[in-house]
Amino acid sequence: MVLLFVLGATIGSFLNVVVFRLPRGESLVHPRSRCLSCGHALGVLDLFPVLSYLFSRGRCRYCQRGFSARYMLVEAFTGLACVASWYVFVELRMGIAWPGGWMTLGPALQGALAFIATCALIVVFFIDLDHYIIPDETVIIIACVGLAMDGLRLFATGPGEMVSFAEPVSLSSEMVIHLPKSLVGMAVGAGVLLAIAVVAERVFKKPSMGGGDIKLAGAMGAVLGPGYGFGVYFLLAVFLGAIVGVVAMALGKRGRREYMPFGPMMAVAGVAMLYAGNVITPAVVARFLIP
Ligand SMILES: [Zn+2]
Repeated sequence: MVLLFVLGATIGSFLNVVVFRLPRGESLVHPRSRCLSCGHALGVLDLFPVLSYLFSRGRCRYCQRGFSARYMLVEAFTGLACVASWYVFVELRMGIAWPGGWMTLGPALQGALAFIATCALIVVFFIDLDHYIIPDETVIIIACVGLAMDGLRLFATGPGEMVSFAEPVSLSSEMVIHLPKSLVGMAVGAGVLLAIAVVAERVFKKPSMGGGDIKLAGAMGAVLGPGYGFGVYFLLAVFLGAIVGVVAMALGKRGRREYMPFGPMMAVAGVAMLYAGNVITPAVVARFLIP
């Protein structure tokens, strides 16, 4: 678990670089990270996740200028997510009921996919917070995770996991169409947010939701499927947004009409659903959705 945390935190260190450079159109691998204040290239010691921050008390070793604690928090959170990916999918065996012979590899693959989606959501959280954009790269990664998870599920449990439609083709016969949950979920997710965006724009006379939000909803629909999973996810994101909005207004940090990005709410709700969806979904559905 310690090794998984260090691995995750190291990836988190890279996510900090992605959050900073991706919106600026800079290369993600070159050049090496520098202190933003004195420009000194950071060495291996400075890049060691979490610990380097704690040992240097959050200051640059060369110019003593303080770094934001956010870098360390991103590293620590990514490390925890890596541990959680292993614990939830491999140890607790949440998710797919795997057939014999896949008891080790199957859960590990699912955990790895959940971790990849979490990394993309961490990047979405901070880039949308800083720049009010959701990069297409992150959306594509999450959508691919959704397709791959669906592929694994179809492999493990067979075509019963597909969405089926019976379409009458004549008076006496019908054609049964099977579609993968991820593709239907993608259409439902993007469709629901597109509909809300169109209606909200008419009502409030200004754009309230960006194209990035709609694309991200499509990608999360691919991960969560078209059913209650996505519905609960969306409610969770809206609920979070309402709480954050009210708290920010109460603290005087934000005016009533000021724009608040929705991507960070969708990212937090997404991480919650990735690891605890099978607990959250039935609880929310039983309490709020079924009278
Ligand atoms: Zn410095």
